[in-house]
Amino acid sequence: MNNRELLKDKKRIVVKIGSSSLTHPETGDINYYKMEQLVRTLADIRGMGKDVVLVSSGAIAVGRKSMGIKPETISQRQALAAIGQAQLMMTYQRLFSEYNQKTAQILMTKSTMIDDLNRKLAQNTFEELLHMGVIPVVNENDTVSTYEIQFGDNDRLSAIVAALIHADLLILLTDQDGMYTDDPKTNPEAEFIDIVPYVNEAYMKMGKSSSSSDVGTGGMKAKMVAARIATGSGADMIITNANHVEKLLNILNGDQIGTLFLSHKDPDFDIMDCLSDDHS
Ligand code: GLU
Repeated sequence: MNNRELLKDKKRIVVKIGSSSLTHPETGDINYYKMEQLVRTLADIRGMGKDVVLVSSGAIAVGRKSMGIKPETISQRQALAAIGQAQLMMTYQRLFSEYNQKTAQILMTKSTMIDDLNRKLAQNTFEELLHMGVIPVVNENDTVSTYEIQFGDNDRLSAIVAALIHADLLILLTDQDGMYTDDPKTNPEAEFIDIVPYVNEAYMKMGKSSSSSDVGTGGMKAKMVAARIATGSGADMIITNANHVEKLLNILNGDQIGTLFLSHKDPDFDIMDCLSDDHS
């Protein structure tokens, strides 16, 4: 069996979607069509008997749109995140309920991960929810995290969650089809990469910080950091286009879509190392 066909056997999948994929770039409004497609696809993957976790950004973007305020202070950002996260969750719950799929909210902080007891409790909660057939929706707890104590971005958070719950696949949804040798928006010669056997320094360098959007963080550089964490923890990782989210089903059927990063379980893998700022 080739590496793509092995994806059929994945049992525990973390999917991450960013703010810029969840909102219309023209207005900042929620892209309901995309959110609907995502929810339906995840409910189907769950229906196939797999454990599914969704890491969703969008709290600040949705809060900002809702209140019509561009945050200027940390407390404003945090207030908007509190407003937006509740709205985001309400929308997810409504959409998931259309497919009889239960969902739950887990808000993570870096301190939850650093503290041994808190980390263990978070892990237990994930296990229990997955055992119940629930799809947890995860975000950083932006209302209490400040710059010094935050994960950084949700690409990294999703990789840390994948490591925490021993997922065997992490899927990052983004605004391009996968990874290229250079930024395809600025370099027409950039070539698509189908498979990354090992995230070495050359790939880290290729991952340019290409996110120009002001509603999310991330970009390819952040995705390479996530790839290092996820593959080192023992999960494969895929970067694919959020515009065709229904194709996740084809990916899980072994079709050649997106860029596949092969897991490379590091015997010395320690989740604490992934929390330090210089992990890149
Ligand atoms: N946690 C942030 C939010 O929900 C987004 C972080 C990120 O996009 O990386 O607004």
